Amino acid sequence: MVKKFLSYYAPYKVLFTVDFLSAVIVGLLELAFPVIVSMFIDELLPTGNWQWILIAALGLVLIYLFNTFLQFVVTYWGHMLGTNIERDIRNDLYGHIQKLSFRFFDNTKTGKLLTRLTNDLMNIGEMAHHGPEDLFIAVMTLLGAFGIMYYIHPELAIIAFIVVPLILVIAIYFNKKMTVAFRELFGRVSEFNHLIGDKIGGIRLVQAFANEEEEFEAFKKINDSFRATKLKAYKIMSFNTSSTYMLMRLVTVFILIAGAYYVMQGELTYGEFAAFILISNVLFKPLEKINAVIELYPNGIAGFKHFLDTMAVQPDIKEKEDAVELTDVSGNIRYSNVSFKYEEKNVLTDISFNITPGETIAFVGPSGAGKTTLCSLLPRFYDVSEGNISIDGTDIRDFTLSSLRENIGTVQQDVFLFSGTLKENVAYGKPDATDEEVYDALEKAQLKELVDSYRDGLETVVGERGVKLSGGQKQRIAIARMFLKNPPILVLDEATSALDTATEMYIQEALNRLAEGRTTLVIAHRLATIKNADRIMVVTTDGIAESGTHEELLSLDNGVYKGLHQAQFSQI
Ligand code: ADP
Ligand code: MG
Repeated sequence: MVKKFLSYYAPYKVLFTVDFLSAVIVGLLELAFPVIVSMFIDELLPTGNWQWILIAALGLVLIYLFNTFLQFVVTYWGHMLGTNIERDIRNDLYGHIQKLSFRFFDNTKTGKLLTRLTNDLMNIGEMAHHGPEDLFIAVMTLLGAFGIMYYIHPELAIIAFIVVPLILVIAIYFNKKMTVAFRELFGRVSEFNHLIGDKIGGIRLVQAFANEEEEFEAFKKINDSFRATKLKAYKIMSFNTSSTYMLMRLVTVFILIAGAYYVMQGELTYGEFAAFILISNVLFKPLEKINAVIELYPNGIAGFKHFLDTMAVQPDIKEKEDAVELTDVSGNIRYSNVSFKYEEKNVLTDISFNITPGETIAFVGPSGAGKTTLCSLLPRFYDVSEGNISIDGTDIRDFTLSSLRENIGTVQQDVFLFSGTLKENVAYGKPDATDEEVYDALEKAQLKELVDSYRDGLETVVGERGVKLSGGQKQRIAIARMFLKNPPILVLDEATSALDTATEMYIQEALNRLAEGRTTLVIAHRLATIKNADRIMVVTTDGIAESGTHEELLSLDNGVYKGLHQAQFSQI
């Protein structure tokens, strides 16, 4: 873990060296003041020579100016180092999360990932910066202080330093406790983020059910436990800070008593005595810094551990080393003995069929039978548990993921829109599309009138997840996306289910045109829309029950399709 963490410093060797050296010098210069004061009292004062006294003062001013400059370097460059590392780790994390598979997102709360990308990362950044720098300043100052004290009077130096290890032991003890406390705290933060994302995201549902009070109670409960966890962490922190403070103050008292004794014995001059007291005050700073760093570490370490946890998750869907690009698709799709399960539950068992280039295949059947699942195996959103799927004779696992997915256009059951403009959403599959192209796609998807009715036209903002649009409009946006993306293989998963019958008919024409020359998989609830499919497959929980054209399936006695058909048309 340490090695991995340090590897993030590698690109910033210069920055780190400058920061580190400046920090060391700052630490040592802190010690110049007591030494100069001591010389001042013992050597300059008795001479009564003002010139020398002023020169010494000037020297001090110069030292402080230099030190001020270095302090600036340390603070600014040090934070630059920290923020650089924070950015790099965040990029790595986001890049990795993006590659993870549907299965991971099925089982992970977005709030958790949000926390990992924000809070956790900020703590890592703080640690990356303050960790080495503050620790080094502190250690250097401590060593320097001890050196000077030892040079002046070894015994008194040892008396002054006797509590230092004790303070460190205490700090380490509390540090361990705090790591645990902060890990728990982060857990709460991500719980919070999840709750807020979920319940504010679903606020319309909450309000529709008038469940505000219950939701608020649930929120308050988490908020309370968040507070309690935080308080627990701060309690440990306070114990740590105050016990260290008390021990450090004791040092001054020790030095005062022991120093007075040595002065009376004639072993220590007044100047040296003063230097001791001043240095013992300088000592507070590095010790406080070490303490602060030690308080900071648990946050950073907890954050970094979370980071490593997430980085360790491997995508379920892997690309082969020697994967090839899928190009010039003719569209022959073959499912051979495909079985699939999400967790333990078998959804598809031993499914085989073949789709020839340009064919339109419709899947019908009861909800929950596995139609969506069946189609989501084709772009490898999930991998088959057994069997295989091939396109133009090659197992889809032999293709690069991006080329496979670029060639398959999916209109999913739940359309997702980003909170941008109409244009951005339609052009998502082809970001360099011109306004004309986008407009053309919208026209084909029967959205022209809608766009024309907006003052901002294509630049109209659709709201978060497209809330400003109706379900049918959102579906048509998704269809427009397909017209623009123009993929050789199309998957339409209940793509027109939210449309009224009239619009659906219009769109159907457009979709039929879109499907021309492409291999198309259509999942449809309303059978009227798939009457003209080349082949219809009836998917039930037991697999593919029937397969054939509309007429063929209707002619089957006691057929499932026939049953569905009768049920739908007798309803009307
Ligand atoms: P259909 O599209 O035919 O209505 P689905 O393919 O959506 O059916 O679902 C088939 C079965 O798989 C259902 O029982 C559903 O509960 C289950 N299922 C769907 N998606 C997931 C998922 N992401 N994780 C676990 N189970 C799922
Ligand atoms: Mg479905």
